[in-house]
Amino acid sequence: MENSPVITANKPAKQSYDRSLQTFVLSATTLSLAATIVFFAVVAVLNIDIPNRIPIAFTVIPIALLGVIYNFFVWPKIEGRYPFGSTYISLSFVAICLIIGVLLSGGLASVYFPVLVILVMASCILGARACLISSSGLALFIVVALVLNVVNTNKLNLFIPEIFYSLIAVIFGLLVARAIDHYVETSHLATTITNQLDSTQLSERLMLAAIADPVIGVNKKLEIILFNSAAEDLTNWSTKDAQNTLLSNVIKLFDSNDNQTTKSNNPFLKVFSTGEQLTTDEFHILTSSNAKVSFSISVAPTFDMQNEINGAIAVFHDISEQKALQRQRNEFVSTASHEMRTPVAAIEGYLSMATNPNLATVDDRAKNFLEKARNSALHLGKLFQDLLSVTKIEDQRLNDQRQVFNMTDLVSQVASEMEIMAKKKSLSFYSHIGSEGAGNKTELVVAPQFKVNADPDRVREIITNLVSNSIKYTQSGSVDLTLTGDRNNIKVAVRDTGIGIPAEEQKHMFEKFYRVNNSMTREVGGTGLGLYIARTLVELYGGRIWVDSEPGKGSTFTFTLPLVKS
Ligand code: ADP
Repeated sequence: MENSPVITANKPAKQSYDRSLQTFVLSATTLSLAATIVFFAVVAVLNIDIPNRIPIAFTVIPIALLGVIYNFFVWPKIEGRYPFGSTYISLSFVAICLIIGVLLSGGLASVYFPVLVILVMASCILGARACLISSSGLALFIVVALVLNVVNTNKLNLFIPEIFYSLIAVIFGLLVARAIDHYVETSHLATTITNQLDSTQLSERLMLAAIADPVIGVNKKLEIILFNSAAEDLTNWSTKDAQNTLLSNVIKLFDSNDNQTTKSNNPFLKVFSTGEQLTTDEFHILTSSNAKVSFSISVAPTFDMQNEINGAIAVFHDISEQKALQRQRNEFVSTASHEMRTPVAAIEGYLSMATNPNLATVDDRAKNFLEKARNSALHLGKLFQDLLSVTKIEDQRLNDQRQVFNMTDLVSQVASEMEIMAKKKSLSFYSHIGSEGAGNKTELVVAPQFKVNADPDRVREIITNLVSNSIKYTQSGSVDLTLTGDRNNIKVAVRDTGIGIPAEEQKHMFEKFYRVNNSMTREVGGTGLGLYIARTLVELYGGRIWVDSEPGKGSTFTFTLPLVKS
């Protein structure tokens, strides 16, 4: 595994640009101030013929000196807090020296005036804001100089050329300043985006490394593009080697029959075709040490900018311990149910004999008690039977004796058995084989061949469960059992005029131990396992089961099974 990356933030472009600009301006002003001191010292000492040279030297040299001191001692202390202001003060020392020089040597006509204009232009490298401030300063200076000139000469001289080239310089400076600002902003933005991308990638890698479960991402060609350290431990492949390698070379998934996944049951391909997340625990993996480990695999599709699936990410969660625990629990429940079923059957048998007037003589009160005891024994027996079926289904120990048989015979048999049960509750019972019955008579339309490939005992269990539920949850009216079919499937429907099921409960009906919470369910008693077993068996044989119901009006439970055509 690569070392955990260290977060390194790039210095924002604007900050580093500002910093070097300030240093440059500071060096330039220091040099200008030093040059000013030397220049006026030389002019004063060598008596060079410049108007007002002595007063200029006496005012400008101390100010320039102050500027140099400021640059060396004050600026470093305050530039962190006032980066713009501190540099501008430095520039102002040069400007003040120049303004004094210009004013004392002839105003706008002074030889120093162009230098002042150049300084204003130079300030534009600090950006548009600095340029506006110095341009406004220049405009103010020009106005003051014009007024002073009128006062001194009593004449109005407009200094057209000076004002004109000042204007050109200011416009040019402003354009340059805007271009500089734009460049700085753009590069600042680019660096910010790069930094954000860097840190997003970094946090993704850190997050991935922190996940204890193996995480593997693939593209649509099933080549690995993402591999975390837990995946390295599981497969013994390094991230570097695994990248761009076919998933099937790195990790082999086996189904419950120890067959390697094929195109038809590969969870990744399933996700590519459905576009929906999938969680399955039907696969196991052979680890690097050849151990068989059960995994729950969650595969989620990933999408590109056009919202097209471009790959998938899978999280593998080791559930071998859970499975072992579940196996132990199932074994216990299965053994207990099996052992208890026999004595309960004996109790039920003896109670049945005790209530049979041909075999025993009991008074009516005792008979009533014995009937109740027998019903409870029957209920207990059903519970053990259901628990046994559930544990067998979950452990894949179901004794599944598949054969091709005709559903017509089976449905007719079940119908005649269940009719007795319905009659006991004074319910009408109708069966319709080969046509959708109208619900008023039992009918058999030209004995059709509805052949399926399944275990007939299991299919009988499904139908018996549905019909006995309908009888259980119907107070009055009728129960209809219908067998129909099309070219692909047979369809069995059990319709009743019972209590019905509220819409919000319907989606939970086929879950393990789920019972609708109403007074009748409580009164009738049950395990909440019948429909779960029915669904599991129907799905095992490649069919589908569902319910349509309206509270107070009744329910129709329907299941399909694939038709054997030849
Ligand atoms: P149970 O042993 O409780 O009948 P099932 O799994 O067979 O367990 O049924 C689950 C629940 O579904 C029942 O408790 C009942 O509330 C409801 N149910 C099943 N069949 C019907 C039906 N035909 N009409 C109304 N409710 C039904």
